Amino acid sequence: MLKRDAHIHTPYCPHGSQDPLEAYVEEAIKKGFDCITFTEHAPLPEGFKDPVPQKDSSMDLDKLESYFHELNTLKKSYASDLAIYTGLEVDFIRGYEQETKDFLDRYGSNLDDSILSLHFLKADDSYICLDYSEESFQQLIHLKGSIHALYESYTNDLIASIQAELGPHKPTRIGHMTLARKFQEAFPAPKEAEALFETVLDAVENKGYTLDLNTAGLRKLKCHETYPNQSLLQKAYQRGIPFVYGSDAHVAKDVGAHYDDIHTFLK
Ligand SMILES: [Zn+2]
Ligand SMILES: [Zn+2]
Repeated sequence: MLKRDAHIHTPYCPHGSQDPLEAYVEEAIKKGFDCITFTEHAPLPEGFKDPVPQKDSSMDLDKLESYFHELNTLKKSYASDLAIYTGLEVDFIRGYEQETKDFLDRYGSNLDDSILSLHFLKADDSYICLDYSEESFQQLIHLKGSIHALYESYTNDLIASIQAELGPHKPTRIGHMTLARKFQEAFPAPKEAEALFETVLDAVENKGYTLDLNTAGLRKLKCHETYPNQSLLQKAYQRGIPFVYGSDAHVAKDVGAHYDDIHTFLK
């Protein structure tokens, strides 16, 4: 089996690190990977205002051409060492489906492999970034009315993302599907969580999509689990839903993080 890390960020990420692209590639080579995908946060849809204080959730649209160009150069210079794929982590945002489709129609032909992720939830008339901070998470619970309502809204939007018509370049891999559990040690999941997430697995299975087996949660202070968490991972595995490992590295040294542990999560 090919050793692959398919969720990696870059210096184009304004909330990540300035580690150069080559540092990520060298780390992957050092750790014996055969292929990697760079999946920078795609520019947010036109008209959407980034709700986080530094407005740094994604790369700027005017950097996109240079992102594609740099990755094409990198692919060639490392061709004998490993395969490098060009990707994006595309946000699904309720109410911005058309803008997202327009973006994918326009730029999708540059992509080899991408991820569809949900980070922003609508609450009242604004959007909140689910995983930005414990405070933003707390605020979402407050606006939704309960943690159960938050999970319900998160899983509903995930299902909407899976079913959305986003055109021929729509990513078919769902990013960190249990991101709502990022602060689970501070805000325990409601008892209904597992059943809600199983309806997401239904949608993934129906569409024949794949899941990002994302190890970033293992590095988060209040999480200490993979996305999806172990019990859901097992359920997905039993259903035959394919996974693709992703470190979600925002610094070069995290490429391949916990790769060697993933088989234990499937036991
Ligand atoms: Zn990020
Ligand atoms: Zn993400």
